[in-house]
Amino acid sequence: MKVLKFGGTSVGRPSRMHQVAEIVTSQNGPKIVVLSALSGTTNALVKIGEDLMAGKHEEAAEEIEGLYNHYLNFHNELVGKENSLAKARYVINEHFSFIRSLLKVAFNENYTKELLAQGELMSTKLFSIYMDEAGHKNILLPALDFMAIDDKDEPDLHVIQSKLGRLLESHNRNELFITQGYICLNAQQKIDNLKRGGSDYTASLIGAAIRAEIVQIWTDIDGMHNNDPRMVEHTKPVAELSFDEASELAYFGAKILHPSSILPAKQYNVPVQLKNTMDPEAFGTLISSEEKTKEIKAIAAKDGITAIKIKSTRMLLAYGFLNKIFEVFEQHRTPIDMITTSEVAVSLTIDDDSKLENIIEELKGFGAVTVDKDQSIICMVGNDVVEVQGIIKRIFEALKDIPIRMISYGGSKYNVSVLTESTYKKQALMALNKELFNL
Ligand code: ASP
Ligand code: MG
Repeated sequence: MKVLKFGGTSVGRPSRMHQVAEIVTSQNGPKIVVLSALSGTTNALVKIGEDLMAGKHEEAAEEIEGLYNHYLNFHNELVGKENSLAKARYVINEHFSFIRSLLKVAFNENYTKELLAQGELMSTKLFSIYMDEAGHKNILLPALDFMAIDDKDEPDLHVIQSKLGRLLESHNRNELFITQGYICLNAQQKIDNLKRGGSDYTASLIGAAIRAEIVQIWTDIDGMHNNDPRMVEHTKPVAELSFDEASELAYFGAKILHPSSILPAKQYNVPVQLKNTMDPEAFGTLISSEEKTKEIKAIAAKDGITAIKIKSTRMLLAYGFLNKIFEVFEQHRTPIDMITTSEVAVSLTIDDDSKLENIIEELKGFGAVTVDKDQSIICMVGNDVVEVQGIIKRIFEALKDIPIRMISYGGSKYNVSVLTESTYKKQALMALNKELFNL
């Protein structure tokens, strides 16, 4: 069994959905197709939810009607036969009458989750109607019947596995299944989701649950690039990455894949291939357990980083000091990304600064605290990169004109990272591209 996931832009126009059908049917064997909402839909639903929360009903009503018209136009071009048009219109009307009904309730968090689920529910139903019309027999599997998160909002792979297994078993004569990305049921059996961009995560969880032969993630770029194509010219897709390389890159900026989605695939050794809907022949990027090369494969950057330094002579020769500092971050449920220490100071970075003020207040009890905002982590990723001869010299040669605030080397054998002010990011990425890839 294969899992094929298509993102919002891949289904964002009727003609794109037709292309998706071609890609799906050109591959042999049984498959599960996971779809995102049409591009723009989830953003629009988020906005509608925010307006309803804020009591701005007129604005919300206008946005709802705008989105409704978008779907009406969409279905007109998606299908041709009268009975398919009628079915598609029925689906759209059904979901929009639910969305409109939210204008009349005391809106709350639970309704938001239900509202956000409408995008994926509609895209999959519309695609299924199109596939029926095109003569491709398919089964719509409701993600809410098997995709589950526990009381810590973590996917429950055992539940997913047993529920999905039973569903597939009951349709064992079928070869083509369609399901929603992103949405799930939570521990209270209420509609929830896997957070923004979560459809990738759905695909890899399904891949892990059924031990798929491969998970294909179809987007609008030809794989993970060796540098940020928005910042640097002449980047190119990396053909092969190991699971560890890919998870470092997905976390540090390469926006193409949801960072959590590597884990289930790695756990059950299911290869993940990133493919381009606009150029299906291009190889893309294959992520697997193979660790063939020792070299820097890609550079990625993550913005919006805050660096915090705690300096204290009490740290000198003292034990338990770092522990106390970590406890502050743990209490505020704020993950630390990079860390470097000297005998009298420790510098670390966070990317979620929502609890920053409280954190600083508490850290002041341990020493002098300095905070630098608007920093970027630039990370260079490759298997055993730390063992490559002369690598540090080349990195520093490239970065010789750029003020570096922190360096992390040897923490993992897959990555070397530096921290700099975000204003230097582009210059740093370009210089590294030239020095490391000769581009
Ligand atoms: N539709 C959701 C979002 O836009 C999930 C996804 O596309 O992966 O975040
Ligand atoms: Mg995405």
